[in-house]
Amino acid sequence: MAREPLYQSSGASDDEDRDLRPQRMQDMVGQRAVYARVGIAVDAASKRNEPLGHILFDGPPGLGKTTFATCIPRDLGVPFQIASGATLKAPKDLIPYLTNAEAGSVLFIDEIHRIPKPVEEFLYPAMEDFRIDIILGEGVNARTLNITLKPFTLIGATTRTGLISAPLRDRFQMREHLDFYTVVELAEIVRRNATKLKLPLDDEAADEIAARSRGTPRIANNRLRWVRDFATSRAGGRATVSVVREALDMQGIDVLGLDGQDRKYLATIVRVFDGGPVGVDAIAHTLNLEPDTLEDEVEPFLLRSALVVRTPRGRRITAEGYEHLGLTPPVREASEPQAGGDAQRQLPFGPR
Ligand code: ADP
Repeated sequence: MAREPLYQSSGASDDEDRDLRPQRMQDMVGQRAVYARVGIAVDAASKRNEPLGHILFDGPPGLGKTTFATCIPRDLGVPFQIASGATLKAPKDLIPYLTNAEAGSVLFIDEIHRIPKPVEEFLYPAMEDFRIDIILGEGVNARTLNITLKPFTLIGATTRTGLISAPLRDRFQMREHLDFYTVVELAEIVRRNATKLKLPLDDEAADEIAARSRGTPRIANNRLRWVRDFATSRAGGRATVSVVREALDMQGIDVLGLDGQDRKYLATIVRVFDGGPVGVDAIAHTLNLEPDTLEDEVEPFLLRSALVVRTPRGRRITAEGYEHLGLTPPVREASEPQAGGDAQRQLPFGPR
C-alpha cells in the first residue's frame, strides 16, 4: 500500500494542474524512452528494497518534469518532499529537508539550477555519502558537526542543464532529457483530460487543440480549459472542431500554436533587427521581457520548429519564420549561410 506523500506542492498553478496531472507513471503519455529507463530503475530499486539513484530531469517548462518527480515516489510507495531551488538560498534552508528525509524517500528540487554554489557544495556529501557537515561557531571556536542522513533519492528538475555545474550533474546517476511531444501524443492527453473535465470533445477537435499546443502538455491543458469555457458559454457545452478553432482564434493562437508573444518575438527580429543575427538580451530589452523568460519559455519551441536558429552571433529568423509571419524571406548573398539549413528538415510540426 502506497503511503501518502509527506508534502504536496503549493502554488496556484499547481492547484489547477493537480486534477489533470497523472498520478502514476503508467498514466503518463509520451516520453516512452525516458519512461522505460526510469521504470527499470524504479522496478529494480523496489525489488532490491534499496533507494533509487538520484535523477536529474531537464527540458523546457510544462513537459512533465514535476509529473515524473511526483509519480516516481507514488510508484515506489515512499514519501516525498518538494523544494524549489529559488528558495534554497543558504545551506541552512536545505537542512530540514535533508534531516526529515525518511529512508528511501524522495526529495524533489525544482529549478535546481537556481541553487547558489554554497548550497550546491553542501549537497555533494548528502548525495554521495548521505551525510552533511554543519559548521558551528566561528573562527577558532568553530567546530564541524557531522550528521548522518537516511539514504534518500534526490530528483532535480531544470529548464537549463547548461547552468548546472559538472560536479553536481555527475552526482545524478540518471540524467533524462524531456523533449516536446508529438501531436498524436498531445491529442491523447487532450482526449483523456476532456473526459476528466466532462467535456464532450470529438477526435478532430482534440487533434486541433493538440496541433496548436506547442508540443507541451501544460499548454494543451490550458487550451483545453479555455475551449471548455468557450464551449459552455457559446456552444451549448459541446466542442466540435469549429468551436475549437473559434475559441483558439479568439485567443490569438495561430495554426502552429504560437500566441501573440511568440509572433511579437519573431516580428521584433525581423522589423527591429533586420532578421538577425541578434543577441537574446537585445530582443528581450526591446520586448521589455527578462532574457530568462525568452530563453525558457518562448525560444525552445520556436527553435525546435526551426522558425529561428541560434548562430554564434545570435538568433536569426529562418525562411520558415518569415513565411509564418506572412512575409517574403529576403534573398541572401550566395556566400551567406542560409538560416535554417539542417534545422528545417527536422521540423516536427509542419504547417498543416
Ligand atoms: P514541468 O515540471 O516540466 O514544468 P509538469 O510536470 O508540471 O511540467 O507538467 C505540466 C502539466 O502537464 C501537468 O500538470 C500534467 O497535467 C501535464 N503533463 C505533463 N507531462 C504529461 C504526460 N507525460 N502525460 C500526461 N500529462 C502530462
